[in-house]
Amino acid sequence: MSRYTGPSCRLCRREGQKLFLKGERCYSTKCAMEKRSYAPGQHGNDRRVKLSNYGLQLREKQKAKRFYGVQETQFRNYFEKAERAKGQTGENLLVALETRLDNAVFRMGFASSRKEARQLVLHGHFTVNGRKQNIPSMAVKAGDVIKVKEKSVSSPKFKEIRDMSISTPNWISVDTDKLEGRVLAMPKREDIDTPIQERLIVELYSK
Ligand code: SF4
Repeated sequence: MSRYTGPSCRLCRREGQKLFLKGERCYSTKCAMEKRSYAPGQHGNDRRVKLSNYGLQLREKQKAKRFYGVQETQFRNYFEKAERAKGQTGENLLVALETRLDNAVFRMGFASSRKEARQLVLHGHFTVNGRKQNIPSMAVKAGDVIKVKEKSVSSPKFKEIRDMSISTPNWISVDTDKLEGRVLAMPKREDIDTPIQERLIVELYSK
């Protein structure tokens, strides 16, 4: 299945929740969810029907996919890997999504949204442990150092980051002066603030 290229705000409206796909706009009054917080389409503004259990599980899975910008097959692969790994499947799944290189770049504040982070990684603006990396899905691990590539440092996008103070989750640290971030440890469930009920996704795939 090809990547969704339609309006990002439509996805938030479909999920009935802000997915923060457009960077700064998401925090402004221009956010579509501020004006039209109902589902898109002709009947979107009709009174919402109560979702079945299956409906709730499906929506939760769609929401997780959309938050992290992952496609269906890739998401399923993440789930199967999480199931095979030790520990709780739901937590394993979230950790795998959270430790994607594009998400780490976003969490480090080098991009204003995961979508932008994906673009920046694809365009080769980062190195991981000194080596150029352009695969957004690459899994980062404890000890990895993610740095803006030397040639990209002078771009206006990264110049402005140098003056910013960035708050990061516990599992990563950032040195804005060096335009460099470090993965301190693998994230635990409590370090991941993405509003996803992973239990519903596990239930969906366990049918
Ligand atoms: Fe979603 Fe951001 Fe669009 Fe608001 S502005 S609807 S949070 S993508």
